[in-house]
Amino acid sequence: MVKWWCERKIWRQLWVSASLAIATTLLVVIIGLPKLAAQQSLSPSSFSLLSQSSPSAPNLPPPRIHPLPASLAQWQAQDRTEDYFAQIESTSLGYLIWSKFPIKVYLEQPKNLQDNSASNLHFQQWVDAVREAIAEWNIYLPLTEVAEAELADMTIARSSPSREIKLNRETGLYDIGRATTARTSYEFYLQEDNPPILSHRMRVEIDPSLSQQSILAAARHELGHALGIWGHSPQQTDALYFSQVRDSSAISSRDINTLKKIYQQPTRLGWAIINDQ
Ligand SMILES: [Zn+2]
Repeated sequence: MVKWWCERKIWRQLWVSASLAIATTLLVVIIGLPKLAAQQSLSPSSFSLLSQSSPSAPNLPPPRIHPLPASLAQWQAQDRTEDYFAQIESTSLGYLIWSKFPIKVYLEQPKNLQDNSASNLHFQQWVDAVREAIAEWNIYLPLTEVAEAELADMTIARSSPSREIKLNRETGLYDIGRATTARTSYEFYLQEDNPPILSHRMRVEIDPSLSQQSILAAARHELGHALGIWGHSPQQTDALYFSQVRDSSAISSRDINTLKKIYQQPTRLGWAIINDQ
């Protein structure tokens, strides 16, 4: 039986709920609309329209291309035409591109490093496997570990993702999502600066009960999502292949070709809010 990394329905639902919830917050923050009015205008397309329509409100930055990080600019694949960019989804604010490097990663860790209990050692093995995946991606996009979760762009949690329950509009019944061993989700926020910067943060969850090898494979796959590869590869030889296989793949040329192409796209993320008063 095929076991899924990030079951697509759950992932898609998360995507929608994440962006909708955040759009509401941003609408309230940016335009100061009453909460009720904001809740009625939940679609991502009305999001930018509404914020543009209020003359005294700050505007969303237009989608623009960030300079390519040196590590990706240097990347030259043997076959540059091979990628799965067509599978990658954008969001209501554009592609999920990081523009400040190194990207700050917070990793859950055992509280007491002197504790040699079996459960603590098991926890440490989880940390080691995730660190290995971070080191693999660090070649292409600079990542650094931070000690406080509040400072992080990306949090990697040692927890088993909860199953989603959602209303099926066709049947009127609630569907219970499949159990997954790993999940990545994101949220948007305004980073306090002058003027504030439209930003995103990522949360990765990786099940603690996986084998050491599976934790590495799951972390490698989910970090790909967290770095902006918001979609799956149809080929088993890519780290972002859509299903979990016994011999999971290392980061492939196609993974990096896709990542590079994503980072050459325009996005509203990472740019300052325009205040035209
Ligand atoms: Zn996935």
